[in-house]
Amino acid sequence: MATNDPLLAPVRGAEHRDLNGVQIDITPAGTGRVRRVVYQPGFRWSTHMKPQVNTDLCMHAHVGFIVSGEIQIEYGDGCRLRFVAPQAVAIEPGHDGWVVGDAPAVMIEVDFEGNTATQFGMPAIHGH
Ligand SMILES: [Zn+2]
Repeated sequence: MATNDPLLAPVRGAEHRDLNGVQIDITPAGTGRVRRVVYQPGFRWSTHMKPQVNTDLCMHAHVGFIVSGEIQIEYGDGCRLRFVAPQAVAIEPGHDGWVVGDAPAVMIEVDFEGNTATQFGMPAIHGH
């Protein structure tokens, strides 16, 4: 899958992981991390990730920028958000999410591993 497209090419200096078809390139930054995450067409958290975790919804916060493609997320209370590149992304814990359309969704995310929501002053789970 060699490519010169900077959206998809190997990230210099990053640790590469392939997790259930999601490609993640992780670069440390202080107590946090900068990650490029490529979600392939057809990806859906509840289908591809949920079987391996012990929660009904994705309990990570996602903060960053979608640089290519489109995603939609749905919180536990039914609230939906759509993110279309180019757009900043701020997703609270407690959501399902999926790629819209036939192109990969490429996100640049900043996280603090299990502590991301707290660091960004987000609730531990989406609510009103
Ligand atoms: Zn809501």
